[in-house]
Amino acid sequence: MNIHEYQARELLARAGVAVPPGVVAATPQEARRAMERLGVPKVVVKAQVHAGGRGKAGGVKLADSPEQAERLAGQILGMKIKGLTVTKVLVVPATDIASEAYVGVIVDRASHAPVFMVSPAGGIDIEEVAAKTPEKIFKQTVDARYGLLPHQAMALGFKLYGDVALVRQAAGILQKLYRAFVDAGASLAEINPLVVTPKGEVVALDAKMNIDDNELERRPAVAALRDVAVEDPSEVMAREANLTYVKLDGNVGCCVNGAGLAMATMDLVKYYGGEPANFLDIGGSSNPEKVVTALKIITSDPKVKAILFNIFGGITRCDDVANGIVAATRQFKVDRPLVIRLTGTNEKEALRILDGVGLKALTDMDAAVEQAVKLAKGGAAA
Ligand code: GDP
Ligand code: MN
Repeated sequence: MNIHEYQARELLARAGVAVPPGVVAATPQEARRAMERLGVPKVVVKAQVHAGGRGKAGGVKLADSPEQAERLAGQILGMKIKGLTVTKVLVVPATDIASEAYVGVIVDRASHAPVFMVSPAGGIDIEEVAAKTPEKIFKQTVDARYGLLPHQAMALGFKLYGDVALVRQAAGILQKLYRAFVDAGASLAEINPLVVTPKGEVVALDAKMNIDDNELERRPAVAALRDVAVEDPSEVMAREANLTYVKLDGNVGCCVNGAGLAMATMDLVKYYGGEPANFLDIGGSSNPEKVVTALKIITSDPKVKAILFNIFGGITRCDDVANGIVAATRQFKVDRPLVIRLTGTNEKEALRILDGVGLKALTDMDAAVEQAVKLAKGGAAA
């Protein structure tokens, strides 16, 4: 789950990281009042979207009067950054910057552990630093039993600064960042830029956190940070129906039971020269309503040219799936060719149900996938 900068700032602030306090605004007038309320001579108006690179895209601007804050918020609200529309801005007191560093911690798959990454070359071009001068990025693997130890935090601080007073501040921030990362169940937490002010204070000017979805159930307060308004509607619908759905770029819509079979189905679609439009796992226990929702989600993607059902009945009953397909065709127009493969529990019953509405089903997985790929390419069914 992605959260906004202002939410990540709040989590960092709660962990004790020095973060300038901001005010969220949804209209230009609110942005002006936010600056009046903050009572500071200069503010930064920042687009709140689930995307990085806002600075480069024109989504982060300095204002030195409430009128200017209003005008700039007017420009930023409604703009698109990486395809996402800005509906909120954060107004924060502007900080004077002497230097910008990058600090972040991720769950690293390769080392099966949290890994810190820091770089003295922070700011808006960190991706370029990582690509072109990786020697400027320093890493520290964390043993999750102990967390980021004080000496490790200090060693990372020394990679950022020469002055020990700054190193101490940075080390403290890194340990608090780690606390926030663990407490929120995050898979990533980063501060970029972490700045030094001309007065020698180390301050977080940006915050980004991604939360591991599997950590949300036991953290209702974190789960409540979800902003459904900016999420893809089909992903919201899938989540609410307890379907595992990932949208992809192809044109063969897939509806499968079980994650393993869903992966195998996608592989086979590719094998036969097609591209899957999605990963969709209706899960173990079948109920017709889930199938209806699955079809709604798949058909809402205009790229989908053919829909493939691949059901291996075990706990999932084929007749439930068939009833779901029939119910869907009654509720709305399924205006794309359906290829249905089902085998296993209550298969015969399923075939009878489908036959009743003139739908055929296959039992062979290869044949079904091949046919779906062909139909998606505009070919006729075999
Ligand atoms: P991002 O581009 O989406 O990562 O957005 P950031 O919040 O990191 O802002 C981008 C850049 O704007 C930063 O790297 C800073 O150079 C600049 N910036 C952000 N906040 C301030 C601030 O308070 N004062 C000044 N002078 N610059 C800022
Ligand atoms: Mn940033």
